[in-house]
Amino acid sequence: MKTISREQALQWIAQGESQKCEERMAEVNRRLHDLVLYVREHSPYFRDAYKDLGEAFILQDLPVTTKAGLLECYDHWVTDPKVTEESVRTYLSDLENVSENYLGRYTALSTSGTTGNPMPMVRDEYHNTIHGCLMEQRLLKGIEASLLSSKVASIIATDGFVSSYSSALRIKRRLGDRSDRFLILSVLTPTTEIVEKLNVFQPEMLTGYPSVLEVLAREKLAGRLSITPDVIASSAEKMTRDTYETLRNAFDCPILDNYCSTEGGEIAMSCSHGYLHLNEDWIILEPVDEEFRPVQLGEWSSGVLITDLTNFVQPIIRYHVGDCVRFSGQPCACGSNLPVLEISGRMGDMLSLNDTSVAFPVLYFMLSDVKNLSSWQIVQTGGNAITFRFIEKHGTSREPVGIAACEKLQQSLRSYGCGEVVVTISHEPFIKNPKGGKTPYVLNRSQ
Ligand SMILES: [Zn+2]
Repeated sequence: MKTISREQALQWIAQGESQKCEERMAEVNRRLHDLVLYVREHSPYFRDAYKDLGEAFILQDLPVTTKAGLLECYDHWVTDPKVTEESVRTYLSDLENVSENYLGRYTALSTSGTTGNPMPMVRDEYHNTIHGCLMEQRLLKGIEASLLSSKVASIIATDGFVSSYSSALRIKRRLGDRSDRFLILSVLTPTTEIVEKLNVFQPEMLTGYPSVLEVLAREKLAGRLSITPDVIASSAEKMTRDTYETLRNAFDCPILDNYCSTEGGEIAMSCSHGYLHLNEDWIILEPVDEEFRPVQLGEWSSGVLITDLTNFVQPIIRYHVGDCVRFSGQPCACGSNLPVLEISGRMGDMLSLNDTSVAFPVLYFMLSDVKNLSSWQIVQTGGNAITFRFIEKHGTSREPVGIAACEKLQQSLRSYGCGEVVVTISHEPFIKNPKGGKTPYVLNRSQ
């Protein structure tokens, strides 16, 4: 198993930031060759996929991989034969395991499953050390040290192996008898209750999904929330410039944002000017069109190919995900020469049901345990009315899925403080985004 010391990782990361672009790309090329050599030797899937690859290959010679394709041959994809899809799924299904490593040496977590089929991801120590240090050195920039003595409130999904929850639990465990300085609140807690608890707790650091933080920013601007955090950190969901400005306006403190994924890890991180910089020395990100062809600088992609140069156990190499990104090609005023990128498409509008704001992650986690639900779209049509469109998992019966989802929504929205909401099922196709790009999960047509 490939390992690295924290000191070495921190040193390389510092180097990567100060390097000229050409030097950095030469380093990336070396790392890519190391990874390819390793996976050829240890992964039956890649041995076969790369069998005709010469010594002097370039990135574009490597075939694109997809979630569906890799899931089909999971046990041949990984480089450690002890890692099997069955055993990792078993490990992930028992919440008691959240504090133990998988097979005693790996962390395991699951993709959130917005595309219907959650995929278990196993990360080795090499990945965890480098990505942890990237977070520390490039995002938190010294805040991490003081974080251990500050009061942190985290509003996140508390359903097990979502990566933010497991990292929150890890920090809480590390805090030991000072764990009362870390408040974890479920994203499904009604806003009024979150506001009350935060007013009592008075966090110095606040973390959560951007759209949920935006709801809290509005509470602050309305005078109901009275906290003054020193720093705000968001993740998982894409932060729009509007949300960033609202947060800055309400809290007047640094806003840390990162673009991460379960498969790729810490892909990009925000700087002091609020722009995302790609961790180009450890992650290769290729913006592509629908046929996986590269798009021009400055143009929006319809997807990206991710290569994580640090995961040697479950290799992510030219792995396709549907994120729409755009590289500006412009230098950033913060002085970092790591490339700046933008991500398009928040997951949709904010609902306002009986005057209670409901952000996308709240709806997402309300529906996350509905059996056989593959994808969905919610359209608000009136003050207390929504229409629910959905696709059931292949080969399952449609009607019970719709009934279960409607019941779950009505009940969860009631306990979220929205009162009685009328949910109507629609069998029409999903409404597309008029501006192109990702089909939104949530549309508010009531305003
Ligand atoms: Zn910058």
